[in-house]
Amino acid sequence: MPQGVEVQVLSRPPIMITIIDGLTSAAKVLREADKIEQYQLILDAQRELLDNQRTIQKLEEEIKKLKDISNFKENADFKNNCYWLKKEDDKTDGPFCSKCVETDDKIVRLHVNQNNGYAACPNCKNHVYFRGEPHYNGSSNWYE
Ligand SMILES: [Zn+2]
Repeated sequence: MPQGVEVQVLSRPPIMITIIDGLTSAAKVLREADKIEQYQLILDAQRELLDNQRTIQKLEEEIKKLKDISNFKENADFKNNCYWLKKEDDKTDGPFCSKCVETDDKIVRLHVNQNNGYAACPNCKNHVYFRGEPHYNGSSNWYE
């Protein structure tokens, strides 16, 4: 007798819980009636449903990531070899790695070295001179 599919329904939408509950009780009835072939079909359907649900979750995460990067690209400025975000208080957030943003769609904060003006990307190991503008004014707004 095959083991039942382990069903985790906590984070699933209500319709999924209803469907899985329905399949579980159908499987129980079939198992008790010794309809092994049909019982197996129900287990397969449950497995398929859960696989599809996992795929949907992965796609939803991917969509969120793409929305985040798209939002970043819309709002970020490219200056001094890096991306910078304007914050509400008129300060800037950054720098962010242009290579990672443009080639990998990843928003990666650069690690800055205030002593020499270079910043390193912890992801792609890219080094950039982030104070490219000649009128660096010593404030936290490097590119003004
Ligand atoms: Zn990078």
